[in-house]
Amino acid sequence: MSVLDDLAVKIASGAVRMVDLTHTLDPDFPVIILPPEFGQCARFRMEEISAYDHRGPAWKWNNISMCEHTGTHFDAPSHWISGRDVPNGAVDEIAVERLVGPVVVIDCSEGASKDDDFELTPEVIEAWEAEHGTIPEDCWVLMRTDWSKRRGAEYLNMQDDGPHSPGPTPEAMRLLVEERNIRGFGTETVGTDAGQGMHYTPPYPAHYILHGAGKYGLQCLANLDLLPATGAVLIAPPLKIKNGTGSPLRVMAMVEEA
Ligand code: MN
Repeated sequence: MSVLDDLAVKIASGAVRMVDLTHTLDPDFPVIILPPEFGQCARFRMEEISAYDHRGPAWKWNNISMCEHTGTHFDAPSHWISGRDVPNGAVDEIAVERLVGPVVVIDCSEGASKDDDFELTPEVIEAWEAEHGTIPEDCWVLMRTDWSKRRGAEYLNMQDDGPHSPGPTPEAMRLLVEERNIRGFGTETVGTDAGQGMHYTPPYPAHYILHGAGKYGLQCLANLDLLPATGAVLIAPPLKIKNGTGSPLRVMAMVEEA
């Protein structure tokens, strides 16, 4: 049996489990809020054109609009100033084979349950590697925090000094990008960076270091608790928006049952 025949049979039988890592696009789903002097990201909006009525008797359809960075979404290198000149840095320029690949999950849920500002550090990564092996090259790395289970104001967790949510330190991002040469980094929070990521050097180190090196980001992921630490394959194709810096998308993973 060919690899693809085998895969199709195993998906149909459930021997390969498909895990949906996507939140539903909904006007109520929170988007990142920047300080008021900056331009703002638009929430998802849906406007009915017709619904089997006088506006269109046999069909139903909607107009939709949103920011490129709304809901579960992909960050392309061109999203950040460090990646502005990276080759193939816009979503429409990324080769399709880059959109399917291996994924590992670093479970930070226990730390994040006790500390809203939990940091993914090199020590956390090295402890994970001591158990699961060195992170393979050209692999997606997802930071599990169970933040996707939060609802409403708890999700952005805005305080007087801005949002508080977990994320990676600059040293962790340098380890992942410069030493492990990962493909991309994903989180359950509204950004790949911590809520307080503006206070690091450089500010927003995940964005700065990932995109400057031509790597990708995923955020607002869900169901990371359903993935194994290693061995899954991620499918994450953004929309083919001309010169797009990111895009909402359906993210899923294939997991082979033991
Ligand atoms: Mn984004």
